Amino acid sequence: MLHLTGRVLNGPGTGSDEDVAQGLWVLDGRVSTTRPGGDHDVTALEGWVVPGLVDAHCHIGLGAGGEVDRATAEEQARTDRDAGTLLVRDAGSPADTRWVQEREDLPRLVRAGRHVARTRRYLRGFAEEVEPPQLVDEVRRQARRGDGWVKVVGDWIDREAGDLAPCWSREDLAAAAAAAHAEGARITAHVFGAEALADVLAAGFDGVEHATAMGPDDVALMAERGTAVVPTLVNIGTFPDIAARGEGKFPRYAAHMRRLHARRREAVALAHEAGVRLFAGTDAGGTLPHGILADEVAEMAAAGLGPAAALDAACWSARRWLGHPALEEGASADLLVLPEDPRRDVAVLAAPSAVVLRGRQVARAGRRLAH
Ligand SMILES: [Zn+2]
Repeated sequence: MLHLTGRVLNGPGTGSDEDVAQGLWVLDGRVSTTRPGGDHDVTALEGWVVPGLVDAHCHIGLGAGGEVDRATAEEQARTDRDAGTLLVRDAGSPADTRWVQEREDLPRLVRAGRHVARTRRYLRGFAEEVEPPQLVDEVRRQARRGDGWVKVVGDWIDREAGDLAPCWSREDLAAAAAAAHAEGARITAHVFGAEALADVLAAGFDGVEHATAMGPDDVALMAERGTAVVPTLVNIGTFPDIAARGEGKFPRYAAHMRRLHARRREAVALAHEAGVRLFAGTDAGGTLPHGILADEVAEMAAAGLGPAAALDAACWSARRWLGHPALEEGASADLLVLPEDPRRDVAVLAAPSAVVLRGRQVARAGRRLAH
């Protein structure tokens, strides 16, 4: 049995002690606010306790060249877990990762099937590539392959135009959204630029990944509809490198990516102020390493959310959004123990003193991968 002797945070509030309970017990994988009866060996853990963190945009089973083998996917999931990510919303994977969900020692996983992209309009080997007449059927297929989400690539470089450009018409996207909803799935889109963003919002998408071009009209619409946005700021931080590589052949594209990069924090602050639902996602698995959620939360805090709201974007509100409980009585003991109050400074997320998954302590004292 574990006894968490410190303060248990039940929400991001900092104004009062309402959100703070004292102590928590863990027996048979479940949390309890009162000490369970019977004789048990007790391990005490001291510190600030928060529910397991959520990476809202992560790719398990995906590497720089596309699908990776099972051992590599397992290592990715374990790296996320040891860094405190105990619930992953996969944002597209060419690998069938249903087996991860059978494993008690790996993070919980919500899958999206494979990315659906326009032919030769995404990273090679990542997506199911189709043309507009096949989009609806492919969305239906991926909705059945995943368990809750479908991911469409909304814009990418158009090499003929030499610029970032939408991959689909607004009508294509509306049909795709209707198809996903008919299958009981939610649908989200990878979108960098302003044009595709306006289109996916008009088409009724439930979420937008990156959404780097968000302006006042977009955020007003998203706030009104409850559209979820995962800004992936660590990923957007790589745009200057992408621009530099594209500069020679595609100068307009390079300039476009630099403009988006320059106002990435402003866009996130605008969305936050408008009341848009923002969630923390690393985009780990394609080109970025796993285990970097603390960096993304720090980026969101610095972009204008501040520490408490940035933590919430990777914790309580993200768990609710994906239908997973926090640390309610009887809930699965998926939690982190931290040496300091993370609502004051999210830097502490990078060095948890303990990570507990399904009641089992899986990582100890501040393991952190260099990247
Ligand atoms: Zn991604």
